[in-house]
Amino acid sequence: MTQAPVTTEISAGDVLTVAREQVLERGIGLSREQTLAVLRLDDDQLEQLLELAHQVRMKWCGPEVEVEGIISLKTGGCPEDCHFCSQSGLFASPVRAAWLDIPSLVEAAKQTAKTGATEFCIVAAVRGPDERLMAQVAAGVEAIRNEVDIQVACSLGMLTQDQVDRLAAMGVHRYNHNLETARSHFPNVVTTHTWEERWDTLRMVRAAGMEVCCGGILGMGETLEQRAEFAADLAALEPDEVPLNFLNPRPGTPFGDLEVLPAADALRAVAAFRLALPRTILRFAGGREITLGDLGARQGILGGINAVIVGNYLTTLGRPAEQDLDLLGELQMPIKALNETF
Ligand code: SF4
Repeated sequence: MTQAPVTTEISAGDVLTVAREQVLERGIGLSREQTLAVLRLDDDQLEQLLELAHQVRMKWCGPEVEVEGIISLKTGGCPEDCHFCSQSGLFASPVRAAWLDIPSLVEAAKQTAKTGATEFCIVAAVRGPDERLMAQVAAGVEAIRNEVDIQVACSLGMLTQDQVDRLAAMGVHRYNHNLETARSHFPNVVTTHTWEERWDTLRMVRAAGMEVCCGGILGMGETLEQRAEFAADLAALEPDEVPLNFLNPRPGTPFGDLEVLPAADALRAVAAFRLALPRTILRFAGGREITLGDLGARQGILGGINAVIVGNYLTTLGRPAEQDLDLLGELQMPIKALNETF
């Protein structure tokens, strides 16, 4: 893929003109410095920015929207200390450890497929999978592939090479592992493992031929510079999908008292990430309801987003699937169809 050019200082006033020529016309994502200039744009340029991000998405990704459902196979009780996460067993947060059985997993996949979703992601709150979890995932993936027309993705934390190979052999086609934030901010967010350990898992996933899904959470106290750094980190990884979450401060977690990201900042970030990653599936994930409200969903989908999660998230409620699907219908954006024959 063509590298973004190395740039020096770029003024906020110029960046939209540059982005139109570089990203929209030529499909070359913004550099870190250019992304920072976008993140610094005034509110009165926000509409223009969202319009450009939408044009970029339509030109380089098309009008289709990818719909995904997620399910938690193992909830809570995680030994890691990600400061935003109510599933850590180290904080006094209200999520209790629980396992889901295989019939319930298959039923959830069926319900997800009924919404038109093409992706079903099995998630577990763990540092990395142990043998019990790997066995559950193998049984679950097989049952879903036998009974439901949907692609199966997994998010099971950090993997060994052997686990990567086994997941690829099971037919898991995409693996989610978020870098969560910029490398320079990561030690303020997680202390029980490193950004580099996460990067290693992503590298192995890519090499094994699975699609890479990697994003993070905005609004965790990062500076605008770090937000731009994170977009550049992701651009260097070239993931197939980037889920963008906005912090929904959970009671009992170390980030429980952080302020919710203002809507304008969240929308500016969505557009900036689209301009840094013109061809990536950019998915609205958790926290958008509290950050953006109903109106924001529309602005985001018209401002660079081309994928949504339907239904509920792992520990918080989302919007009913119908609301999102109605919105896509109203905006005349088709739901992406399955392109793999099972
Ligand atoms: S984000 Fe994942 S690894 Fe971190 S505490 Fe939560 S469940 Fe554990």
